[in-house]
Amino acid sequence: MWFRRDLRLADNAALTAAASSGGPVVPVFLCDAVLEGEGAAPRFRRGLSVEALSQALEQRGSRLILRRGKAEEILPALAEELGAKAVHAGRLHGPRDRANDAAVSDALTARGIAFTLHDGHTLHPPEAARTTTGGSYKVFTPFWKALRQRDPGALLPEPARLPAPEAWPASDDLQDWALGAAMRQGAAVVQPHCHAGEAAAQDRLEAFLGRLDDYTEARDRLADRATSGLSENLTYGEVSPRACWHAASRALHEGGASGRGAEAFRRELVWRDFAWHLMAHAPDMATTNWRSEWDGFPWADGGPQAEAWRRGRTGMDVVDAAQREMFVTGTMHNRARMISASYLTKHLMTDWRVGRAWFEDCLIDWDEASNAVNWQWVAGSGADASPFFRIFNPETQASKFDPEGRYRRAWIAEGQENPPKGALAYFDAIPRSWGMSATDAYPQVPLIGTREGRERALDAYRSRREEQ
Ligand code: FAD
Repeated sequence: MWFRRDLRLADNAALTAAASSGGPVVPVFLCDAVLEGEGAAPRFRRGLSVEALSQALEQRGSRLILRRGKAEEILPALAEELGAKAVHAGRLHGPRDRANDAAVSDALTARGIAFTLHDGHTLHPPEAARTTTGGSYKVFTPFWKALRQRDPGALLPEPARLPAPEAWPASDDLQDWALGAAMRQGAAVVQPHCHAGEAAAQDRLEAFLGRLDDYTEARDRLADRATSGLSENLTYGEVSPRACWHAASRALHEGGASGRGAEAFRRELVWRDFAWHLMAHAPDMATTNWRSEWDGFPWADGGPQAEAWRRGRTGMDVVDAAQREMFVTGTMHNRARMISASYLTKHLMTDWRVGRAWFEDCLIDWDEASNAVNWQWVAGSGADASPFFRIFNPETQASKFDPEGRYRRAWIAEGQENPPKGALAYFDAIPRSWGMSATDAYPQVPLIGTREGRERALDAYRSRREEQ
């Protein structure tokens, strides 16, 4: 059983298939090029998930074997060493994972070992949804309507037994992989905010079900924790999207505010599927404008303004608060993501790929498809994108979704007599080389003002349209 982003025992089709083969099951996790190529925070967070899975397996008399190297070399060698007849894994949809799977499949089948991939990372396989003309969806609403009534199938219970082999093969030590190394001092700051492992994910889902009645109303409020927080768990497969869907569907039937919340939550889960659906049809989504007419747009590539954005020093307080929330907790409120991404791509006219890459480095809930698709959505270059001329006004957004300034005070220490713990923790997390301190003066004026930035972006957009 090759675990990757399905780091759970319940509702795991690959594990169920391996367990039902009747023979011993050897759970394996690899530190391969895909994992090594990920950003600092996702790599660190996956390490926590692997640790939790390893403990859960040991409690059941099994073991997680860790190996480092190329999957297409390690898996066949290990399978031969064990005399295994089959390798099972969860199907992933990212372009690097797909290429990896093809190489693994060739290497295993050449040795007469079966390689079976099982669905479950999304509610429905990304290619399963088809428009009436047989094509893929480009707009969310019809996709949602198509999936809303579709049953993702029954949940699979955790296998009753995972028979051990006669002798366990050698395993690396997780600590030696140093998956958190690139986080440096940030790891200690972010770790208390992580909810790693299947049991933590389950607790989170249960707790959220008790707050469903508030979800529709409160989910956009920046200072409230009204959403589920489950993106962190879904991205490592510590809970299946199907388990979330079924839990919400039960609440849906209760009706009332909880029922409305459940439907809104299910819609968000379908957004996640939609991102994977789009990426399955445009594998270069993370690097290439979905709409090619954006290719010549005069976006800046980075530079001092993007650096100020990364460091939470734009002088636009809601944007800076968002960036700092991410640095301290490894996540960012969904609305704050939209505000911050809009300020970078529109007011600072910076290429969305600059922001996308920074989020990949900092988010513990980094999801290849959701990150790319949402960045393109905000920038205006995506499939079902927010039009470029619809520019988020960060000040209006702040007064609407953080009317008392609680979110901004929670994350920006400068200028406060007694800054809260989270705002101060930011200075423990950031690299010393940034030379920032809580006692610095906060920028008096933003890098670019709300109206000025909006007009500059619209002018650039209009001239580009005229050129085309
Ligand atoms: P809830 O409101 O509880 O939603 C339930 C689940 O639905 C989430 O866990 C998530 O899996 C899914 N979901 C919710 N909103 C979206 C959305 N807009 N797109 C896709 N799926 C969604 N989400 C990630 O999981 N990883 C990312 O790397 C990521 N990058 C983003 C980048 C930008 C610029 C923006 C605007 C959004 C990004 N999102 C990303 C989407 C969204 O912000 C998060 O999924 C959400 O904040 C997670 O919080 P939650 O689990 O409490 O959400």
